[in-house]
Amino acid sequence: MNDDAKGGRPAYFVAPWDLDRRLACVPAAPEDGSVVLVESHAKGRALPWNRKKLVLVLSAMRHFAAELERDGYDVEIVNAPSYAEGIRRHVAARGSTKVVALVPREEGLAKGLAKAEGTLGAPLELHDDGGEGGHFLLSRADALAWAATQKPAKNATQVWRQDRFYAFMRKRTGWLMEDGKPVGGKYSFDADNRKPAKGVRPPDARRFPPDAITREVMERVAKWPGLWGDVEGFAWPVTRAQALEALDHFVRERAPSFGPYQDAMLRGEPFMWHALLSVAMNLSLLHPREVCESALRAYEDGAMPLASCEGFLRQVMGWREFMRLVYLARGAEAMREANTLGASRPLPAFFWEPEKTDMACLREAVTTVRDEGYAHHIQRLMVLGNFALLAGVKPIELSHWFWAGFVDAYEWVELPNVHGMALYADDTFTTKPYAASASYIHKMSDHCRGCAYDRTKRTGEDACPFNALFWSFLAEHRELLSRNYRIRGLFRTWERWDEAERQAIRDRAEGFLASLEPAEASRGVDDYE
Ligand code: FAD
Ligand code: SF4
Repeated sequence: MNDDAKGGRPAYFVAPWDLDRRLACVPAAPEDGSVVLVESHAKGRALPWNRKKLVLVLSAMRHFAAELERDGYDVEIVNAPSYAEGIRRHVAARGSTKVVALVPREEGLAKGLAKAEGTLGAPLELHDDGGEGGHFLLSRADALAWAATQKPAKNATQVWRQDRFYAFMRKRTGWLMEDGKPVGGKYSFDADNRKPAKGVRPPDARRFPPDAITREVMERVAKWPGLWGDVEGFAWPVTRAQALEALDHFVRERAPSFGPYQDAMLRGEPFMWHALLSVAMNLSLLHPREVCESALRAYEDGAMPLASCEGFLRQVMGWREFMRLVYLARGAEAMREANTLGASRPLPAFFWEPEKTDMACLREAVTTVRDEGYAHHIQRLMVLGNFALLAGVKPIELSHWFWAGFVDAYEWVELPNVHGMALYADDTFTTKPYAASASYIHKMSDHCRGCAYDRTKRTGEDACPFNALFWSFLAEHRELLSRNYRIRGLFRTWERWDEAERQAIRDRAEGFLASLEPAEASRGVDDYE
């Protein structure tokens, strides 16, 4: 088809994470318009991305484009300085009548497109990225409407509560509901889902060796400087067919034990019983509705116990939708700047170079992130996040590390998780900091056995740093934290120790923090657009 014949039709902009033919940013039929995807140089340079993440995103885009092309679509992947410039070039070449896109999930791109409107060469028509034709269960309007109904309790900073949102979503979808009441008599079975995985091993994860398209991308990405990790060993799903296979594998092999071992960690087992579906879901290769419905079918068939099914649904329809909601309602800029605890320490170098720490749990988690672009939720929250919280790492530096390092990280989901959940830097949607000492990590993992540090000690050179950091963190933020009834009781233990013991704890924490080598000046994002 020549350019003239293609002209006079809309151009559909498919953002890197909109890879689903059911979305409103993809034309229903080839004759309805052309499709443009953009490899943005600015985005590629914004952070020292994990090479596996770039392979994932670029390969998934290529596979998506190839599938559309096979079905007769006019598809172009433009290599351009920015997303807006890529669209502009496509519109100019095709003479497009308008540009159809979803409201971008990441606020930076949304602002970039809004700024470029009027210069794209054709009017911009934006569709909701949630609800009908969108990726999320809730439309933006419905998410923001719910957010607007919430008010903080007296003297509290927390506006949005996940448990309330989750109950709202259960009622709205009717999932695991009977006569308006939650199946099993309660909304959450979280208390049943905290078993350590002692003496058991998880099933093998479903991995996807690279095909010719992925190998070509790997060769390109391997040569790019300033990135993190290696392309070799890439095995994430990059097509819808693979994503469906990953979903099927999870429901058959991992789902039955997903609940009980959700919080457990084992050496050499990066994936445990986790779903490994955020990677595909966040690229829109899977829709959250079909993911939840698969789990519900497994429950109805007796293949998934109620506590596991409920726990899984809570993650997808509860946490995932909730994080997107608070990102929208709070706004990315406010969230990026939030720093309730005034944390100011640079990110330690071992977050990029795991061999620089002797702390076994942290070394294992960072190594997994570097090598796979993944760490499971408890490693993210209770090892990586917990350490950064207790050490007072600057929220934006940790946030950029998570964004760069994880294959499933996009700002809309990484930022609320890091700033809100892990660091308590934004206190508008979390109840308390998730702070823990070595006893939690020991209870839920086998990391402490064989670690260079002694998990039972609070003071002395060989004492586990988590212990002194935990207590000195509580002491430092006592005024704020003692207002929280879930933490208040811990101060009675602190009071029981004499001043010499308390000082020795503070000294151990300070000495350890002083020994930390900071990462080289972080390549933070200067331009989010
Ligand atoms: P499972 O543990 O099997 O959970 C099932 C699904 O539930 C996930 O695929 C995910 O879609 C959803 N989910 C569960 N918890 C959350 C949550 N808190 N927020 C959003 N979705 C959730 N998730 C991301 O998708 N991208 C991120 O960049 C990201 N950064 C995080 C940073 C920190 C500090 C923390 C504490 C959590 C972060 N999470 C993030 C949430 C969660 O850890 C991951 O979604 C999960 O580990 C992905 O692995 P999985 O698919 O095996 O998930
Ligand atoms: Fe981690 Fe401390 Fe246990 Fe070592 S002793 S694995 S540093 S919690």
